[in-house]
Amino acid sequence: MPEEIEKLKSENERLVKLNSVKSEIVSIGAHQIRTSLAALKWIIRMFLDGDLGRLTLEQETLLRKASDGNERAISLVSEILLINKSEDVVEKKYIFENANLIEIIESTIFDFSGESMGRGIEIIFLKPNNTIPHVKIDKEKTRVILQNLIENAIKYSHYHGKIFISIKVNDDGLVEVSVKDSGIGISEDSKKKIFEKFYRTDDAQKKEAMGSGIGLYTTKKISEAQGGKVWFESEAGHGTTFFFTVPIAKK
Ligand code: ADP
Repeated sequence: MPEEIEKLKSENERLVKLNSVKSEIVSIGAHQIRTSLAALKWIIRMFLDGDLGRLTLEQETLLRKASDGNERAISLVSEILLINKSEDVVEKKYIFENANLIEIIESTIFDFSGESMGRGIEIIFLKPNNTIPHVKIDKEKTRVILQNLIENAIKYSHYHGKIFISIKVNDDGLVEVSVKDSGIGISEDSKKKIFEKFYRTDDAQKKEAMGSGIGLYTTKKISEAQGGKVWFESEAGHGTTFFFTVPIAKK
C-alpha cells in the first residue's frame, strides 16, 4: 500500500510539473501573438487616420473590418492569458502573513478608479469606525479575490450605478468583506452554477461579450484555501452582494 501511495504521489508531482510547463508555453505564445496583433492594430490605425494618404471608400470599409477582427482577436488572446494566469494563481504556493485588509481594499479600489469612472460608476468604501484586526492571508491572492469581485460589480452594473464595499468582524473569528452592486443580478436558475469554472449567465453574456467565467471559480478556491468562504445574495434585475471571509491573525 505505501508503495502505491508513493507512486501516486510521484505521478501527481509529474502532472503538476507538466501543467506548469503547459502554462508557461501558453503564456509565452499568447504574449507573442498579442504583441503581433498590437503592431497590426497600430498599422491599421495609421491607414484609417489617413497618415499614409487618403483612402477610397472601399479601402476604408475593408480596413475597418480588419480592425474589428483584430480587436476581437486581441480580446480573445487576453482572455486566454487571464485564464492561464488564474490557474497559476490558484496553484502557486500560498505565502501567509499578517496583513491589514483595509489597506488592501483601498489600494484595489484605487486600481479600479479609471475603469469605474469610465462607466460612470462610483465605488464607496464604508469604512468601519471600530478597528479591524489584522488577518492571516496571502496578500496577493486576496487582492485577486477583491479584483474579481470589484471587476464583476463594475461589469454587471448599469451606468451611474453605485458599488458599496464593507468590512466587519464576525463572531466566528473571521473578518467578512462584502461587495454590493445594484446591477443585473443573478437569476434563480443560475445561482447553483455561479462558481463553476467557465460558467457565465445568459444575462452576463448579453451585457458583456467578453468574460471567461473563471474569476469566481478562482475566488472560491483562494477563499477556501485561506480558511474562509465566499457566497452571495442576489435578485435578478436588482443587484448582487458577494461576501468573503478570511481568518483573523492570532496575537
Ligand atoms: P466572468 O465575469 O468573466 O464571466 P466570473 O467567474 O467572474 O466570470 O463570473 C461568473 C459569472 O457569474 C458571470 O459571467 C456572471 O454571469 C455572474 N456574475 C458574477 N458576478 C456578478 C455580479 N456582480 N452581478 C451579476 N452577475 C454576476
